[in-house]
Amino acid sequence: MAKMDEITSLAKRRGFIFPSSEIYGGLKGFWDYGPLGVELKNNIKRLWWKSMVYERDDVVGLDASIIMNPKVWEASGHTEAFTDPLVECKVCHIRIRADNNQEIENHEKSHKATVEWTKPKTFNLLTEVYLGTTEPKLKAYLRGEITQGVFVNFKNILDSSRQRIPFGIAQIGKAFRNEITPGNFTYRSREFEQMELEYFVAPDEKESLETFEYWKEQRLKWYVSLGMDKKKLRFREHAPDERAHYAKSAEDIEYEAPFGWSEFEGIHHRGEWDLGRHKLSYKDEEAGKEYTPWVIETSGGVDRSTLFILIDAYHSEKDRVILKLHPKLAPYKAAVFPLLANKPDLVTKAKTIYLRLKLRLATVWDDRGNIGKRYFAQDEIGTPWCVTVDFDTLKDDAVTVRDRDTTKQERVAVDNLEEYFQNKIKG
Ligand code: ATP
Repeated sequence: MAKMDEITSLAKRRGFIFPSSEIYGGLKGFWDYGPLGVELKNNIKRLWWKSMVYERDDVVGLDASIIMNPKVWEASGHTEAFTDPLVECKVCHIRIRADNNQEIENHEKSHKATVEWTKPKTFNLLTEVYLGTTEPKLKAYLRGEITQGVFVNFKNILDSSRQRIPFGIAQIGKAFRNEITPGNFTYRSREFEQMELEYFVAPDEKESLETFEYWKEQRLKWYVSLGMDKKKLRFREHAPDERAHYAKSAEDIEYEAPFGWSEFEGIHHRGEWDLGRHKLSYKDEEAGKEYTPWVIETSGGVDRSTLFILIDAYHSEKDRVILKLHPKLAPYKAAVFPLLANKPDLVTKAKTIYLRLKLRLATVWDDRGNIGKRYFAQDEIGTPWCVTVDFDTLKDDAVTVRDRDTTKQERVAVDNLEEYFQNKIKG
């Protein structure tokens, strides 16, 4: 399994993820996505949107604002209950989440003397912001979950679309949590992105449980469809005392990361909690009834998915590192090279092929060093295919396509290249 330092170093070296504001020493819990990271992350989000919105008739999208009327967070219970327990080491005053046994254990080992901890205190995770120019400024919050934006728009969406229960609202966007101990690279950040579905059903035990099971399976299947190793994925049910304040039941999809099995998506049965708290209801015209719908939620993290996809794809062989990213996720699908960078005929031909391919597929140009070095560099960023233009190309109008995972080479006619890649990406 990849080690975390291998992942963080590759991410930095090849432009996937950088510490935020690094030239000023960075800021704990904040990260920037570089040229390749933004492509990988966008691919994840695009594929999620495709499977959750475009391929379905019963889900519509939303993009709600990050800052909302603070009353939203009072009604949702977050100002009161969106908390983590915090303990402080009486020796060095470091603060740790009281439920993080691993960190507590590590910290105790780091002191020679026995550590004494303060009693756990609850600590609210909402990040406060102050709005306006005159005092007193209005205290508001950066959203702690993107979810509430969906509930407060429930009526707007019902009134403006043809959706009727059961149906869902999908959203991708940033959330902020004042985490006590950000860490494990991007795993626990203070600013992160979520991709969530809130699916509304009638208040019925059987139907809601079936919907819960249905979405659990769908979500796991989606990660497998992105090429993730099924053996490293599992469900874990939350114990009653572990559930968030809104959850009737909850299960996580976990990945076996180098730092242990860790959550990266939660499937939550939120019952009538949210719509009830916002005093929203639904009129079923056909049945002539009005009720508070129940909600099944799938809440995934874009950053945690990006991190686990990178970890899962990382392979090292004796003389190369390969990111075996699914072609759908790879930042570049193909790299185009002239065999020799100092032969104008080869360069001109390769440039023509590159410029044509680039209009249809994310394609990169590379003419540095020798072919071996270029293969090495493309393997490391997960480019599935390398296209070499050689002297034969000038005669037969065909190129050599080399496969990242098998290193096998195939001769493909220039005119068929695009179709050749599209078929492979689909397959
Ligand atoms: P944890 O127990 O790890 O703090 P959580 O159970 O509070 O997470 P949820 O509130 O269920 O998390 O959030 C849904 C998803 O949002 C998580 O599965 C995760 O992918 C993502 N997420 C939550 N907190 C963070 C964070 N601090 N950094 C990055 N992603 C996060």
